[in-house]
Amino acid sequence: MAERSCFICKTKREKQDLIRIIIDNNGLALFDLMQKIPQRSAYICYNTQCIDKAEKMGREKGLGKFSLQKNENLQRLKIFLENRVKEKIRFLLLSKKTVIGLEETLSFLTDIKGILFADDLSENTLKKLNNKSGDVLKIRLPFLTKEDFGTLVNKSELGVLGVKEPLVELEKICLFYENLFSQEH
Ligand SMILES: [Zn+2]
Repeated sequence: MAERSCFICKTKREKQDLIRIIIDNNGLALFDLMQKIPQRSAYICYNTQCIDKAEKMGREKGLGKFSLQKNENLQRLKIFLENRVKEKIRFLLLSKKTVIGLEETLSFLTDIKGILFADDLSENTLKKLNNKSGDVLKIRLPFLTKEDFGTLVNKSELGVLGVKEPLVELEKICLFYENLFSQEH
């Protein structure tokens, strides 16, 4: 697996755990999300801090058109991240390392390493989940309603999914997504 460093914070990661940035022929900074455009490039973390710093650096170095946070870039990034999260959930479901539903998740708690829950999970259910699941990592899926979440498991809706493996990468992506796109959380 190829490793690269974030050009801002210098952290080394697998290439696909970083976002590739290119400067196109018009001098515009673009996210190359598929990491395939043959251009000189730099890599950056899934982290709003690093992106903000890159933005500032671009301005200071007089890269006048350097703007990662312009709408078109962000819109593409948003869709990309949403697909990435759904892909990862589908992959977990296929690997059979999941437990579907709140009660089921709570009854297999000793095997559960992480819990994913829908963005619109009711306050009461969330309270119950928090009370009974202790310090198991819980991740709100910032753009998946119960209905959306349900379609991934062929049900009309799903609020809670228990997962029997660590969810580090998924947590990072969801956090990044919330930082960039959510106002209310
Ligand atoms: Zn970084």
